[in-house]
Amino acid sequence: MTNGSQEPIVGIDLGTTYSVVARLDEHGHPATLVNAEGDRLTPSVVLFDGDDVVVGKEAMKAMTTEAERVAECSKRDVGHRVFHKVFDGKQYPPEVIEAWILDKLRRDAETQVGPFEKVVITVPAYFDEVRRKATQDAGYMAGFQVLDIINEPTAAAVAFGFQQGFLNTEGSTDEPRRILVYDLGGGTFDVTIMEIRGSEFIALATDGDVQLGGYDWDQRLVDLVAETFIREHYIDPREDPNTAGRLWRECEDAKRTLSARSKASVACDYKGFSSRVEITRQQYEEATQDLLDRTRFTAVQTMRAAGLEWSEIDRVLLVGGSTRMPMVRRMLAELSGKEPDASVAADEAVAHGAALRTGLVLAKQRGERAGFRIWNVNSHSLGVVGTDPQTQRKRNGIIVPRNTPLPVTARRVFKTSKPNQRSILVQIVEGESPAAEECSQIGRCSVRDLPRDLPPQTPVEVLFHYKPDGRLKVRVHVPNTEREVETEILRENSLPKEHLDGWRKYICGREPSDYR
Ligand code: AMP
Repeated sequence: MTNGSQEPIVGIDLGTTYSVVARLDEHGHPATLVNAEGDRLTPSVVLFDGDDVVVGKEAMKAMTTEAERVAECSKRDVGHRVFHKVFDGKQYPPEVIEAWILDKLRRDAETQVGPFEKVVITVPAYFDEVRRKATQDAGYMAGFQVLDIINEPTAAAVAFGFQQGFLNTEGSTDEPRRILVYDLGGGTFDVTIMEIRGSEFIALATDGDVQLGGYDWDQRLVDLVAETFIREHYIDPREDPNTAGRLWRECEDAKRTLSARSKASVACDYKGFSSRVEITRQQYEEATQDLLDRTRFTAVQTMRAAGLEWSEIDRVLLVGGSTRMPMVRRMLAELSGKEPDASVAADEAVAHGAALRTGLVLAKQRGERAGFRIWNVNSHSLGVVGTDPQTQRKRNGIIVPRNTPLPVTARRVFKTSKPNQRSILVQIVEGESPAAEECSQIGRCSVRDLPRDLPPQTPVEVLFHYKPDGRLKVRVHVPNTEREVETEILRENSLPKEHLDGWRKYICGREPSDYR
């Protein structure tokens, strides 16, 4: 696969704590682009400095002096209506904060590769439909045309396949290989079992946690240090946002030290008091054991969902900066009976996979032969909400179970209840719980303009179509006609197009374009 056109081919790993941009060079090889500060990783941190919005390293530094103006880990809030912090009386949707991060990544990349707008952005495999849509919206607001959103573990597997030479000119590998991708980043955790068969990358099962990552390990260290400080000085350094920000940075640093050495120390100063806390690796591992156990449990569950034994897994691939922790490697070696594979660059593999994917999409658009194919599964069950006749409670009726290969279309027949009923309202959710309120609310679908004079009990067929990227489209087969119409999903936690256009103009100065 080569980059025959002049158009830069760029993939973006939009991470919770750090983001990475990669491009395909003239030989079709992925390479990380450095940012304006000369770094390969850009902190996904935003500082609201009056009218200025500062992204990256400088924003991260401000966490120790102007913590109240800093938005960090916005990816964790994606899918919610607004980010959990208020800045100068304003609350921003999390995807708007992500759009500012993407805008900085674009501007920095453009100084090296020239203007571009087509990108592939990666998302955790465990992101639900609402979060996928919000990520695409962030891309739009940053002035991009998002060609595809792909799952981070899949991207890492593609980068691994490329590195191993599976994606040579024929783009194939002889024997099928099964790999378990264990991806522990800054804020999210994913396990995906992939089969690489020839030039096909097939996801067999996926699971994860969008609220678990290196950040939680940092917090445990912060708590350890703060508890010692309280014992010594009867005052909690976490109560002041700037001190808490400084302490967090110190602890993140100490965590990295503990990956390489058996002890680290953290200094904490607050209100004229100071403590220096020494932490051994063993203490740290004990304090975070339950977090690791959660990832272990998920890995076991995913193996079960794929119906595989560990002996059937060829490699355990480590992805994400947090897999540098020795406790992760030890646990996986013990669980799988094989030494985990750290051959892909933990922080950069996902962006490299995204760049390879962008190259593929553009090659296809030019009518060239595709080098590899990706087959995905849905990470959450899709359901429609109904009312339990006995309890009158809202129930989730699952129509597409999780880990179903995508694309997939599920049909569901609803019946009109009244004579001349012109519309039907369908509420769609994602999740495993039978209780609808415990699931992620995708939105409502209003089937309107049904033909007049339909008798009660007329069947109306609704088709729920998951695209390969995990995004959902809903179509309705209109009774008594051959007509099938696409219905808009009315989303509760999603920005309407006019708002997206307004933010796009404000953030990157670009005019609205065709986008749904
Ligand atoms: P990623 O989003 O994949 O770049 O992962 C970022 C996370 O990896 C952050 O929570 C970092 O603190 C963590 N991380 C990076 N290097 C190390 C290391 N040497 N030891 C432990 N955690 C690390």
